[in-house]
Amino acid sequence: MTPVRAALYVHLPFCPYICPYCDFAKWAYDGPAAAGYLAALEAEIDAAPALAGTTVFFGGGTPNTYEPAVLTALVGRLRERFALAADAEITLEINPDPELCTGLAAWRAAGINRLSIGVQSFVADELRVLGRRHVPADVTEVVRRARTAGFANISIDLMFGVPGQTETSWRQSLDAALALDVQHLSTYGLTIEDGTPYARWFAREPAAFADDTREADLYALAIATLGGAGYEHYEISNFARPGFRCAHNENYWRNGDYLGLGVGAASYRDGVRSVHTRDRETYVAAARAGEPIPGESETLAGDQRVGEAIMLALRTREGVDTGAFRERYGVDVRARYRSAIERMEADGLLQSGASFVRLTERGRFVANDVCAAFL
Ligand code: SF4
Repeated sequence: MTPVRAALYVHLPFCPYICPYCDFAKWAYDGPAAAGYLAALEAEIDAAPALAGTTVFFGGGTPNTYEPAVLTALVGRLRERFALAADAEITLEINPDPELCTGLAAWRAAGINRLSIGVQSFVADELRVLGRRHVPADVTEVVRRARTAGFANISIDLMFGVPGQTETSWRQSLDAALALDVQHLSTYGLTIEDGTPYARWFAREPAAFADDTREADLYALAIATLGGAGYEHYEISNFARPGFRCAHNENYWRNGDYLGLGVGAASYRDGVRSVHTRDRETYVAAARAGEPIPGESETLAGDQRVGEAIMLALRTREGVDTGAFRERYGVDVRARYRSAIERMEADGLLQSGASFVRLTERGRFVANDVCAAFL
């Protein structure tokens, strides 16, 4: 029997320092803890179900806190375990601190062929506010070195809505990213996560943060600037040169199967969504003992499964392919959601045709509200 195809996500949760806005499963780097975690991750990989891996995404945390040899060995293990194609997209999320990027040539030699660089801003003051320790020149240097090492698929993450950010400074970041001529850009609005130092700052001084109108203005500037420079706005937060969409993330938006490995990692298989515990010690103990990783799971069925798939598809430029939905879920989306679609078309938030339903440019600014109508 042909094994199920799935994208692979590998969580490497250690960081050289902790940013005050961050809510990911992450910890400050500690050698023995990182070694113990790695042993647990290897055990989980070895015990994983038989799947044919399609893409790999090393996320974090800061994956490049691990030595290049560790990442090389992990790629080899995944290749063997999940029969990855030789040219499979393998992304490494990195922090652009040059001291953490000495392994560029080794990463490339291991088969990592895409870098996702957590830049956030090209304005030194904003980087300080975000608690980031790199400076804008570091990014230029790392991108230059990455190209020399043979990376031809580089993505940069930028953040808008940073306290103190102005339209001018956001434009400065966008222009600096464009000057690097990378293949892919992601732009995210800052979100205030409960329990973070930023949440406490927001409680004290909400005016320091961008409100919805301001965020929308900054997002509009990103769309105009990146679109004007020839990047395809292929998903709400993502822009790519032709041929450089992120295959790993496109699988999520198509509601494809994926396997998450590591603490806090999420998986989706056969309509079952699950997430591993975010407690690192619990994860490590279970994985090393060869026991099931504690966590939560829910089975999506019926309307919930269709609604979830619509929500994901609406994030993309193509939107919902109604023919494909009929075939896969047995649902005529246009008929089932007729009144919601007609209402939002009248409001200029959705557009539909014989074979698609998708967000309009305006709809992208209120995507969460639009998607809620299908859940
Ligand atoms: S480097 Fe990334 S994962 Fe680590 S604390 Fe900062 S934002 Fe979070």
